[in-house]
Amino acid sequence: MYRTITSIIKLLITITLFNLVSSCKAPVVSTISQKNITTPITASIDIVNVVDDKVNVEILLNPIDLDTLVYFMPKIVPGTYQNNDYGQYIDDFKAFDLDGNLLSVERKGKNQWRIGNPRKLQKITYWVNDTFDSEEEHTIFSPTGSNILKDKNFILNLYAFIGYFDGMQENEYRLFIKHPSILEASTAKEKTHFEHLINTTEYEIDHFVFNRYADVVDHPIMYSRPNKVTFSINGIEVLLSIYSNNPLHKSSKIMSDMERMMRAQKNFLGSSDATKKYSIILYLSSSKSDDAKGFGALEHNTSTVVVLPESLSRQKLIKTLTDVVSHEFFHIVTPLTLHSKEIHYFDYNAPKMSEHLWLYEGTTEYFSILFQITQGLISKEEFFERIIGKINASQQFDDTMSFTTMSKNILFEPYKKNYRNVYEKGALISMCIDILMREKSRGQKGILDLIKSLSTTFGVHVPFEDKQLLQAIEKVSYPEIRSFLQKHVVEGTPIDYAFYLKKVGVKYGIKNIPSSYFIFEQQPFVKGIEASQEVTFSSDIPFNNFLKDLGIIQGDVLISINKKKYNIKNIYHLFGDSNKWRIGDEVVFNIKRNDQIKKLRSTVIKPTVEKIILKQDPNASAFQKSLLESWINE
Ligand SMILES: [Zn+2]
Repeated sequence: MYRTITSIIKLLITITLFNLVSSCKAPVVSTISQKNITTPITASIDIVNVVDDKVNVEILLNPIDLDTLVYFMPKIVPGTYQNNDYGQYIDDFKAFDLDGNLLSVERKGKNQWRIGNPRKLQKITYWVNDTFDSEEEHTIFSPTGSNILKDKNFILNLYAFIGYFDGMQENEYRLFIKHPSILEASTAKEKTHFEHLINTTEYEIDHFVFNRYADVVDHPIMYSRPNKVTFSINGIEVLLSIYSNNPLHKSSKIMSDMERMMRAQKNFLGSSDATKKYSIILYLSSSKSDDAKGFGALEHNTSTVVVLPESLSRQKLIKTLTDVVSHEFFHIVTPLTLHSKEIHYFDYNAPKMSEHLWLYEGTTEYFSILFQITQGLISKEEFFERIIGKINASQQFDDTMSFTTMSKNILFEPYKKNYRNVYEKGALISMCIDILMREKSRGQKGILDLIKSLSTTFGVHVPFEDKQLLQAIEKVSYPEIRSFLQKHVVEGTPIDYAFYLKKVGVKYGIKNIPSSYFIFEQQPFVKGIEASQEVTFSSDIPFNNFLKDLGIIQGDVLISINKKKYNIKNIYHLFGDSNKWRIGDEVVFNIKRNDQIKKLRSTVIKPTVEKIILKQDPNASAFQKSLLESWINE
């Protein structure tokens, strides 16, 4: 449908784009009508002429018959659970009429610009700054941020560059990107042919069409020198594109592992209708102070942006990518397909959060571990280790907090600081539901079947009501699943994992293992905070019994022990100093908790760490064994 698109563009566009487009003179709009509200919005980004680490954006719009018009940059975008205020990276916002005269603009807060007299409006222009090089000053997670590195790399999470006019989120967007010829676009979005573009040896212009603002948000683009491969798995065309500055990693060397992993994912999902195209956009960071350090990824319907350190060995990179990309790919199941109204009608500036993060993030994370065992990518022992890791990590958070309340209020404390638990306990909630499903269906069905059934009731275009979900789940599963969710997810009763694992003949045991006071098996219980130079208690595994008895909790800041002060510079003394302690000695810790200084006293004991052991019970019944087999294919 090439032709249609091109001819529509020729009719509607008002081209002043970069002043580069040759003969195409757009019709000047002479009559203003409300109809214009539905006309396409034309945006252009110039990544050739980078000035002061900023790029210029121009938005063209036909005049609008309104008294004022507000332009928004998003405060938050789907898949992120914090306010990012992308408007704070916008400078020098200007609005012009057809004769190039400035129109009045009033900035409201971080993300809004009120434009006076939009009946005369022809275009707005502004400069956009990036987020990767200033991560010490903000908390925007790198895969949701932006990068401007002249002639080298551009991470265009488009919501950081392009906003929307009030009430016009459903308008079509035409995007032109002028880029250096040496850099190529990597994105799941097809380029659209546009015949009036002038390309030179120095620069080229790419053209993309998006059917609405959500579609713009859903299609990140990376510009970089080509380091990419494509492969296809069961009807999906996958692009793997890597930015590795040094260059340490080549896409061709990583492809076969990605291919194997995604083929296994597709097998795991079975008949699920996945996307036809998927792009993995991988940015490898130098990890220096002016580069990205928020490693991980953000999901989109047909792509993911992944940010990882370039210094990883190839083996480590492949392992991390397997975990990260499989998680993002499974997001196609939820929330990209199955989701609530809060997500479906996403409000970029006054977001309402859904109650069901346990589903969106927890189930997704669980799938990303489960498929690895059922498809033979990891051993049973490795699978159990991953489950143990989740149980340990979940114990660092408030185990009695209602997951639905937390999810609804995730943008605010004290819920916000428990966010990471959606990946830990969230995955375990799904594991228990999976086991319960296996038990009730005598091994026939699991949580994937449950989600698939739900996705026939609801889906991409049919969101559910948060409050309906448990009832809907009961309808396609068993009353026990609903009771489990009510008790452990809505009400927050801690889960007895031993009880559920026993159903599949897996024994849950605890062993006390000798530890050091501040470190256990290379996992320190403390870490230094660069910004404040302080030492804080923080660990992915539960603290040893000495620290627990002393009353230390996550996030406590260590001031001193027995009058010796500690900070980031002498943090390593902690290990040597504590080695000199003798059993029965008195120790006094001065710590800071919620800005209050506290004295904690204890006598020195032999530190031990409780280690969880998961083992297949040799005395399991035939039924238990059969459930285990149907659960993990072992
Ligand atoms: Zn996720």
